[in-house]
Amino acid sequence: MDYQAVLEEVAAYARPLVRHGRVADYIPALERVSTDRFGIAVADIHGAVYGVGDWEVPFSVQSISKTFSLALVMSQSHGGPGGDDDIWRRVGREPSGTPFNSLVQLEAENGIPRNPFINAGALVVTDRLQTLTGDASTSMLHFLREESGNPDLAFDQAVADSEAAHGDRNAALAHFMASFGNLENPVPSVIEHYFWQCSIEMSCRDLAVAGGFLARHGLRADGTRLLEAREAKRINAVMLTCGTYDAAGEFAYRVGLPAKSGVGGGIIAVIPGRCTLCVWSPGLDARGNSVAGAAALDHFTTLTGWSVF
Ligand code: GLU
Repeated sequence: MDYQAVLEEVAAYARPLVRHGRVADYIPALERVSTDRFGIAVADIHGAVYGVGDWEVPFSVQSISKTFSLALVMSQSHGGPGGDDDIWRRVGREPSGTPFNSLVQLEAENGIPRNPFINAGALVVTDRLQTLTGDASTSMLHFLREESGNPDLAFDQAVADSEAAHGDRNAALAHFMASFGNLENPVPSVIEHYFWQCSIEMSCRDLAVAGGFLARHGLRADGTRLLEAREAKRINAVMLTCGTYDAAGEFAYRVGLPAKSGVGGGIIAVIPGRCTLCVWSPGLDARGNSVAGAAALDHFTTLTGWSVF
């Protein structure tokens, strides 16, 4: 496969769509990013990396961090043989069909969020990480530096502060779950670590490389094991069914890959056994997925014939 040629063709197809979306404006720090940016990178399972456009420009990872916090929790507390991690007692694995920051299902479901990729579920995962590591956001930063091979990765203080200043909804979700006993740590500390983890800045290159273990069935680039193969499979499965907000059905229909998007305009996608992709373009559709990014992944799977189906 000539990845570079495929990426050039994908970029030529998707780049004209960059102005079709709207940049996230729920916090001022994200609103300032230009819609004109477009980058895409592929990291194959053997360590080669290819990219086009703004693929080395750092952006706010936002909800893409939810994939990595789940992986880090699972890597630190493996279930028994054939078993499931304890985290699955506290968070479900079903698509929510509601917006990422919705409160509505929590009451009927006793404070157990539908899945780890909506905000409520990610707060539970961050809470678990806080218990396991004592410092959830710093552990995330170290983990991402390690997996991406980029020691310069950092938090964006302006984004984290802006999230906190506009954090009423996330605080409400956390307090509501705490009222059901589904948080182990104090609400202010859980939401603070969650905001910090969302604020990490990474490029398409960094994210494609960091997500390599998902394409290598749990193995890191150096051959050591981060996750059991079944755990990597489970994360990929939840990405496919729940990773692109309440458009996961449409995304699976168009792209056919496990993926996780963020409101910073990034999307990572996994082709198990082959490669991990990351695309970035800040213009979002009404559900919060990058317009040009989703089109690029759609075109990539169409050109290559690669999807999990
Ligand atoms: N930090 C954002 C929030 O919690 C994440 C949004 C996203 O990327 O889905 O509202």
